[in-house]
Amino acid sequence: MNTRLSALFSKHLLDRRAGHRARVLAAFEEKCQLSRLNPVRRTDLQNQRLAEILVYAQEHVPFHREQAPRRETITPQNARSVLSLFPVVRRADIQRNPEAFVSDAPGPCVDDATGGSTGTPMMFRVDRNTQIARESSLLWANSLAGRIPGEKVAMLWGSVSDVQGATGQLRLAVRWWIENMRWYNAFDMGEDRMEAFHSSLSAFRPHLLVAYAGSAFTFARFLQARGSRPAYPLKAVVTSAEMCTPAMRSVIEDVFGRPVFDRYGNREFGAMAAECQAHEGLHINEADCIVEIDSADPFKVEGPILVTYLSNRAMPFIRYDTGDVGRFLSGEPCACGRLTARLAPVMGRQSDTIRTASGKLIHGEYFTHLLYGTNAVREFQFVQETPTLYRLLLVADPAQVASMQPRWRLEIGDALGAGSELRIEYVDRIPALPSGKRRFTLTKVGNSSASQKYP
Ligand SMILES: [Zn+2]
Repeated sequence: MNTRLSALFSKHLLDRRAGHRARVLAAFEEKCQLSRLNPVRRTDLQNQRLAEILVYAQEHVPFHREQAPRRETITPQNARSVLSLFPVVRRADIQRNPEAFVSDAPGPCVDDATGGSTGTPMMFRVDRNTQIARESSLLWANSLAGRIPGEKVAMLWGSVSDVQGATGQLRLAVRWWIENMRWYNAFDMGEDRMEAFHSSLSAFRPHLLVAYAGSAFTFARFLQARGSRPAYPLKAVVTSAEMCTPAMRSVIEDVFGRPVFDRYGNREFGAMAAECQAHEGLHINEADCIVEIDSADPFKVEGPILVTYLSNRAMPFIRYDTGDVGRFLSGEPCACGRLTARLAPVMGRQSDTIRTASGKLIHGEYFTHLLYGTNAVREFQFVQETPTLYRLLLVADPAQVASMQPRWRLEIGDALGAGSELRIEYVDRIPALPSGKRRFTLTKVGNSSASQKYP
């Protein structure tokens, strides 16, 4: 669809609930403006929001009522120093006792879940402000990559429900059509599928191609091997969800002839940081997030990324350990003119792509999606031992997950194809890599990263 028509229709026709779309667009505008506000005004605004969410959490969330520091009053002036007294919250804390983190006065809200990019699945709850903030954060991140509202976006992505929705539900199909978006399933990337993606993308000619870093890399290598010079995307490749190494970036940029824009996000908060056209680190989404690095020197030494999310009243996330590792960038303000703090590229996540005996490629996020919504699974790792032998390692109480096992077996069996063997094993812990980081999928077949050995 024409860019202007799409922008116009998106504004006026896409309103799931009264006023929702207008609020998403207003939040998007605010994010764009906030990143250029002078630091004093920006900090004032953040501190105001921070004070509000801290007061709310102490009043309405059992965990924070019990654990958080008692103060006479939390004000915008003291909010930052009070924040440092709040305990760090890890996924495991929430898994153990989810009710303790949910507001006793949530208002309208919905349940959501993350597969956990570090292999720790978790259920959580979001209110409408969070849905608006997350949607607008993606528009904001796309705009940093140069997208003008209404321009075409192709998603090489893998949320099963999103992908099924795009093809299976008329309402969503209409929405994606109006929004100029198309979805391509990163969970199913055999050669025949990639061939079909390439034809469709060549006709669609998106401005942005948004993909898991590993999927973009796999696809780029596929096109490179057959000597294709794709005439898309017109503007940029946006990578997310896992580490985009300099080597991967270089291959992707070479094949597509367009710059890569990295983005750092998660299911809980949407886009937390995004790269701009200066390509010097990722601007933090300061309208929604206060980011701390738990390190002796956050500008030099990487540490766990802690996020305090400013929107979600249904389940406030205060000093939440994202499971990722990073550091701040120091130095001059960014050449793009935005004044927010920046993160160095986030290196804390990595997953292997599994190549089945039949040659089908399954992105590692498939397994995190499969285990969505199971707080009983504290950690997991999916290991490919041989082309046909797989182990699913679970840190979980077998009795609690017994009823889910048949579905996992069925779905994983379907994905892996006939002749594969799956062993489900219960372990006390998932071993870390020598670097201390963990992979939630691991293949021992050939090169340590199946995506790197392709083709
Ligand atoms: Zn910049």
